[in-house]
Amino acid sequence: QQEPMTQSLYSPPGLEFSSGSGSGVPKIVQRTIAKEVCHLQAVGRGRFGEVWRGEWRHEDVAVKVFYSTEEASWARESSIYEQCLMRHENVLAFLASDICGTGGWTQMVLITEYHPLGSLHDFLSQQPVLTLGNTIRLLFSAAKGLAFLHTEICGSPGKPALAHRDIKSRNILVKTGGVCCIADLGLAVRYSSINGMIDPSPPLVQGTKRYFAPEILDSSLDTRCFESLTQADMYAFALVVWETLLRCRLPDSDPVPYRLPFSEHAPNDPSVELMQSLVCEQALRPTVCQHWLTSSYSSAVVEMMTECWQHRASARLTSLRVKKCLRDLDESFRRSDVQGAEADCNC
Ligand code: ADP
Ligand code: MG
Ligand code: MG
Repeated sequence: QQEPMTQSLYSPPGLEFSSGSGSGVPKIVQRTIAKEVCHLQAVGRGRFGEVWRGEWRHEDVAVKVFYSTEEASWARESSIYEQCLMRHENVLAFLASDICGTGGWTQMVLITEYHPLGSLHDFLSQQPVLTLGNTIRLLFSAAKGLAFLHTEICGSPGKPALAHRDIKSRNILVKTGGVCCIADLGLAVRYSSINGMIDPSPPLVQGTKRYFAPEILDSSLDTRCFESLTQADMYAFALVVWETLLRCRLPDSDPVPYRLPFSEHAPNDPSVELMQSLVCEQALRPTVCQHWLTSSYSSAVVEMMTECWQHRASARLTSLRVKKCLRDLDESFRRSDVQGAEADCNC
């Protein structure tokens, strides 16, 4: 990790601001936000930019600084946060977005709440182990966030349905309190039942190949059908469930070291061809550990997970079903003796 540093990445006031890349984004706009943010420490890096812990109006915030070539991604993510009613405990909370620049130089930022525990991927790789209670709670909260995204709210202000299109453990953050929020809406598309339009109309191959559903890999997904897009999210969600189960401590067995799904077969940034051969032709899925089947709670999670990664997209559970399943498990777990035993041994 880089040394903490303080810097302002923004140009001084008094310059004429424009988006600079000819993408159609209007001339700018709010310069106060950009001037007010202090970047303190790099905390993450993705395909579209760098994320910094920063300070804004005396609060810790996360500042996502987009690469100058990624204006479309900045515009899409900003507009989803700004235009849709996006307040939900399990969706990353948006604070502001800004673009500024002169000539060929453009700075695009998105400011959100900062979560010091970082992504679920980092959390699972670094945390010692999860109790069964922690595991169910993390997954239930992530499912609530995903179900919120997928569901249209008709009203004023309403919210279109959204398909995320890049669900993975690096795009889910862990909040203090052991719950998750869904982040990185850079590839999300919206759907409104009023006009039946998907906006923007997405390319088939976009996102993270390791998490691509079979129908993306074999090009059979119909990108004009919104439900197909949410079904592909559910496949990716199932892989996240598997990653989380790896770190769950169950009675009489040790948790397995964290690893990415398909890591034994697929190197970093695998090709579509390799993933297609694994997922479609060999019908491979991540291995279900035998000890997960020794508890009725984790067995139920396994059953839900395998229903979500089925080859036939229409057979997968919806995010609403998954949310309900995990809510029932969470409630029953809280009332159970296992919960007491976990608390007693403080594991
Ligand atoms: P990209 O679109 O480039 O993939 P992300 O929004 O996924 O960018 O962020 C990249 C990484 O930065 C995440 O995987 C996570 O580790 C970290 N990160 C992003 N947002 C936050 C935040 N609000 N708080 C803490 N860490 C964050
Ligand atoms: Mg990301
Ligand atoms: Mg992204």
